[in-house]
Amino acid sequence: MADSRLFSFEFSAPKTEEAIEQVKKVHARLSDLSPHFFSVTYGAGGSTKDGTRQTVLDLSSTGSVVAPHISFGGDTPEVIEELLNNYKDAGISRLVALRGDRPSGIGSTMKMIHANELVEFIRSKTGDHFHIDVAAYPEVHPESDSVDSEIHYFKKKADAGANSAITQYFYNADAYFRFRDACTAAGIDIPIVPGIMPITNYKGLVRFSSVCGAEIPRWIEKHLITYEKDAEALKAFGTDVVTDMCQRLLDGGAPGLHFYTLNQSLPTLKIWNSLALS
Ligand code: FAD
Repeated sequence: MADSRLFSFEFSAPKTEEAIEQVKKVHARLSDLSPHFFSVTYGAGGSTKDGTRQTVLDLSSTGSVVAPHISFGGDTPEVIEELLNNYKDAGISRLVALRGDRPSGIGSTMKMIHANELVEFIRSKTGDHFHIDVAAYPEVHPESDSVDSEIHYFKKKADAGANSAITQYFYNADAYFRFRDACTAAGIDIPIVPGIMPITNYKGLVRFSSVCGAEIPRWIEKHLITYEKDAEALKAFGTDVVTDMCQRLLDGGAPGLHFYTLNQSLPTLKIWNSLALS
């Protein structure tokens, strides 16, 4: 291990042969950093169920700890129980349990099962077999009314048996510290690991951030606009800004970092090396 803090890397479930090969290549490079685990997303509404499962099994066959993301999506409890048993039989020991995003288009009326109910379901079917991570939102989930309701429902996930949490990404360390301290005051004692999104382009980041409720501070956005036509300068600025924030988070007691790798090794490696974590 790099040190006793919790470092992990997330992949988006690949959907094409080319993307599968890319994930395997990136996994091989990032394995050298000895993270605690890798995780693989579950498409909105469960749309990548088979791709997620296959990627998890492929990567874990190399000896890595790999955590599938899981949500009910549109599936029945029987289907999810079978998936859990399948993972258990394959030696998978961690999960990231989510309500999940609503699929766009025809499935948009789907009833969404909240993450606390999924955690309860997993515990009722598989006991303590899995280490369960859940999501947390230092800048408040877009559907939440207030910080109080955010913390209220986050506590329900911890009380249901979640072992730790990974946050939505943010670019303001104070949002994380305030949220963590409010959680502690509310009696939530599971580790809350900051989710880190490297900055590699402007338009994609702005689009995605507006959907998931992550704020890009004005000064950062202004710099990104300046560098929009110079990809290398933009990435160098992004590495600097995100590295500084990670250092502040670790110095301030964050229990580790979870990198959204975007299925690329370089953006994460640059931040990792700048932090001198190896
Ligand atoms: P919940 O915890 O259920 O919360 C959703 C909203 O409902 C919040 O506003 C909350 O306050 C409220 N709420 C919670 N519980 C209740 C309740 N019992 N009753 C009423 N209201 C409640 N999406 C994917 O589709 N696939 C992925 O693989 C994926 N991976 C992610 C990984 C991480 C680390 C993070 C932070 C997010 C990820 N997401 C993923 C996005 C996530 O699915 C969305 O943010 C989704 O909108 C909420 O999921 P959740 O598990 O936080 O939901």
